[in-house]
Amino acid sequence: MRNLHETLRSEHHLKHFGRLQYGLFLKSIGLSLDGALAFWRAEFTKKMDPDKFDKQYAYHVRHSYGKEGKRANYTPYSCMKIIMSNTPTQGDHHGCPFRHWDRSHMTTMLQSHGLSSKDGQSVLEFVESSHYQLACQKYFEITHKLQSAPFSLEHPSQYFAESRRVRGGLDSMPKTEPGGMESGQGDASGVECEDESVAMDVTAEISVKDMEDFESF
Ligand code: SF4
Repeated sequence: MRNLHETLRSEHHLKHFGRLQYGLFLKSIGLSLDGALAFWRAEFTKKMDPDKFDKQYAYHVRHSYGKEGKRANYTPYSCMKIIMSNTPTQGDHHGCPFRHWDRSHMTTMLQSHGLSSKDGQSVLEFVESSHYQLACQKYFEITHKLQSAPFSLEHPSQYFAESRRVRGGLDSMPKTEPGGMESGQGDASGVECEDESVAMDVTAEISVKDMEDFESF
């Protein structure tokens, strides 16, 4: 998600699957529809006529919040779905870095995020054995200075929530299940969910600034 966010900030555009992956993630961590519209509009209209954004892109933002079309409640993508589907091609920025980036790109990124070569190697060992979520979890442990992560990573919003908990000391935050939902609510299949009672908002009224402060991958 960090890659999608940084790309959006620098290029002021994301292709379809990037918008979908990142947009549903932002929704899952509590960004409101109004906040999402303002966020996407502010970036896209740096390079695009506002009228074009309103006609071609705002609909899809509202659609992902269940306000257009068949008004389905779309759930965010799980790690497994991101890893297993919609393989990114040239010009795409969605996907899971641990699964879809080559070793050279990954090594450069780990170094740029301050990992020592020993720590970087411990992450890459999981990548090379195709244990992508464990690689991400190892990255979490290193960057949060933990001996062992207190969760089994299944969802990007879970990563975000745990990062926020560790870095912000937010022990009172509701414990989240994979999919960014509180225990016992809805499914986390990464596809649409028709159950309007599903609680998507785990952190309540989070801002994009909050996300930038805590999200690391
Ligand atoms: S949270 Fe980690 S393992 Fe899951 S999709 Fe994102 S980068 Fe990959």
